[in-house]
Amino acid sequence: MELKTSYLAKHVRTLQPSGIRKFFDATAGLTDVISLGVGEPDFVTPWNVREAAILSLEDGYTSYTANAGLLELRVEISNYIDNNYCVNYDPESEITVTVGASEAIDIALRAILDPGDEVLVVEPCFVSYAPLVTLAGGVPVIVESMKDNDFKVLPEQLEAAVTDRTKAIMICSPNNPTGSMLSKAEMERIADIAKKHDLLVLSDEIYAELVYDELYTSFAAIEGMQERTILVSGFSKDLAMTGWRLGFVCAPKEITKGMLKIHQYAIMCASTMAQHAGLEGLKNGRRDVAEMRKSYRQRRNYIVQSLNEMGLKCYKPEGAFYTFPNIESTGMDSETFATRLLKAERVVVVPGNAFGASGEGHVRCSYATSMAQLQEAMTRMRRFVEKL
Ligand code: PMP
Repeated sequence: MELKTSYLAKHVRTLQPSGIRKFFDATAGLTDVISLGVGEPDFVTPWNVREAAILSLEDGYTSYTANAGLLELRVEISNYIDNNYCVNYDPESEITVTVGASEAIDIALRAILDPGDEVLVVEPCFVSYAPLVTLAGGVPVIVESMKDNDFKVLPEQLEAAVTDRTKAIMICSPNNPTGSMLSKAEMERIADIAKKHDLLVLSDEIYAELVYDELYTSFAAIEGMQERTILVSGFSKDLAMTGWRLGFVCAPKEITKGMLKIHQYAIMCASTMAQHAGLEGLKNGRRDVAEMRKSYRQRRNYIVQSLNEMGLKCYKPEGAFYTFPNIESTGMDSETFATRLLKAERVVVVPGNAFGASGEGHVRCSYATSMAQLQEAMTRMRRFVEKL
């Protein structure tokens, strides 16, 4: 029998690979490269957190945990959210420990979407959102936040995109790639739309601990929103645990039950040693988080000032560890800018259009890299811009 030309499902065949990866491949084989490209902390996971995983192995904790994760960890997650964001989740029925926030987003979408259901995806955003909606059988409806509003989506933009198929709004604040954060008042106006049209909000709060000047408000803490919010978060960013693959999702009981079915069949449970490490991080890692936050804040202030001084207009992001300077003054599009900068000065930045069309005219610079590297990167970028 003749082989088919492709065994892949149509919706997988047509899925585009991540624009970030495509760009990193261009750096292969180059030396003396400074990367402001990656979206992960330059810190190593705090020692006590690593040690907790080592001890869990020494103690022989090598089996599965409960599907939803160690109850002790869920209790600690519940306490943490209650103490920090004044929202109360039942550890037994409303919290699931996942393989990173990535899995949390995936199971949330798969649990709530029927084929053809629409999800409002605010761009620029983390690269996985629209593809995961598609893979879950839904339809991503892109709503473009505007540079003139520091990339904060306006409630009326969301409302204009609502149809009778809309099921949910995906929000990420503080945002990757723009670093901008919605104020409580802005969230309340979005919440009003969710309530008016009976929508869920999938709130990606993975950068909640990396907020520099203001207090953070969780979407679930907005009045009347806990029952329609799926709160996604994790340990990757604040505790510098990207490689451990540990996250969690908090949601109303019915949605948690649905997500747990998918998680149970597809994943079983998050890594046991990672869960022990995460538990230690929540219990005793707050001082380390505060230290890292202080360092990111210093770097943010430095990079924002440097970019503005070299003529790349850049607002001061409230959170996460990204700046999103406007590069339109150079006359280049974001891909040309990033490619030429890499070639001329060996600095990696990510073209803004990798995060959606409205990111065009910008590049994402991560400041999750040492101050010395940042200073060298800024010297090189300034030289590049001055030569144009
Ligand atoms: N959401 C956002 C906004 C992110 O930036 C990332 C990681 N870059 C994730 C989710 C995924 O995080 P995790 O490592 O927990 O899967």
